Amino acid sequence: MEAFEKWESEIRGYSRTYPTVFASASNARQVDEAGRSYVDFFGGAGVLNFGHNNQRMKRAMIEFLEADGIAHSLDMATTTKRDFMERFASTILEPRGMNHKMQFMGPTGSNAVEAALKLARRVTGRRNIVAFSHGFHGMTLGSLACTANDFFRQAAGVPLDYVEREPFDTAPGGGLQAIDDYRAQLDDPSSGRVAPAAFIVEVIQAEGGVNVASAEWLQAVQQLARDVGALFIVDDIQVGCGRTGSYFGFDGLGLDPDIVCLAKGIGGYGTPLAMNLVKPEHDARWAPGEHTGTFRGQGLSFVAGTVALGYFDDDELMNDVARKGGQMRSALQGLADELPDSGFDVRGRGMIQALDVGDGAIAKNAVAHCFENGMLIGACGSGGRVLKLIPPLTIPDDDLQEGLDTLASAVRASV
Ligand code: PMP
Repeated sequence: MEAFEKWESEIRGYSRTYPTVFASASNARQVDEAGRSYVDFFGGAGVLNFGHNNQRMKRAMIEFLEADGIAHSLDMATTTKRDFMERFASTILEPRGMNHKMQFMGPTGSNAVEAALKLARRVTGRRNIVAFSHGFHGMTLGSLACTANDFFRQAAGVPLDYVEREPFDTAPGGGLQAIDDYRAQLDDPSSGRVAPAAFIVEVIQAEGGVNVASAEWLQAVQQLARDVGALFIVDDIQVGCGRTGSYFGFDGLGLDPDIVCLAKGIGGYGTPLAMNLVKPEHDARWAPGEHTGTFRGQGLSFVAGTVALGYFDDDELMNDVARKGGQMRSALQGLADELPDSGFDVRGRGMIQALDVGDGAIAKNAVAHCFENGMLIGACGSGGRVLKLIPPLTIPDDDLQEGLDTLASAVRASV
């Protein structure tokens, strides 16, 4: 680690949590330069849905490189982009009756969120955005303004403007009164409330502690957005691309977002790509060239991302997600039941599952214990008290079981 300590900026983070130098990886295992193998329940924070060095993608990318395919072309038309779009439309959009346009927004999730906020302001001519408690939308100024975590916000040094924070409610039937109150305040000029440009929400708050919103509450937020002439934006950056057992995290919840933000898993291989799905009437509000950027579709990302879409041609992977997600959940529930005084809470859907251990120090110890015993896992939520399990969806059964066993020992040793 010496070179990292000597040369890398003090803001480095994960290399402190996992203090070794990694050299190679395959599916759900990452190997350090000393040859030690770790089972990966961190999954690149939702990027590596199809595993490290996915063999199908690797072959397609090697073919692309050998054929001198175009790696970079700004947003010129390329065969690889066409293949990706055709595949995305036929596999994901058309079966859902969605006619959203695909906007390629640069490599990162923050780029996608930033563009969505900007477009919502352009469409409505309004400035304010409504975001929710515990939400995470990125680190750039606009996306950070929508991110709730004070530790991240303080990095901006000054208050972040034009974003209102409303409570994110996960209780069945909860949150509806707050929505009615909000509506009443908008009707009352003395409240000082002004109509917003957009509501931005994650259907499962991944960084915020794996908080799962109810369909009823999400539909009420969407209805509120429609009623007040604001856009309804779903940030599906971490829980999209198959994570929950369906392509979109919002599938089956009765939602029809104006804008869907996608990044992380969409490039398939860990190759960066961000894409907003935008209803055509909103998309048309930007003139060609009005919102640009240098990296709006890496050739390798399109190639790998197209192969990734092949996993959604049949139900095999999504059935696996349901089965493995169930196994993860029952292992965590078993741990919570075994330690009844701990007050542990188990949350999640599909293959994003979490154990809220209620105390950041316990979670931190468990993460360190896991690392020492050959496992990578992250903590999230308030004070870092939630252990978040997001292994590759393709994790082999024995690696999954090994990780769950290691985690159980770590938690028992940390309480
Ligand atoms: N939105 C969500 C829901 C995220 O989880 C993240 C990343 N953790 C982002 C946005 C920002 O993505 P990026 O780090 O690629 O900018």
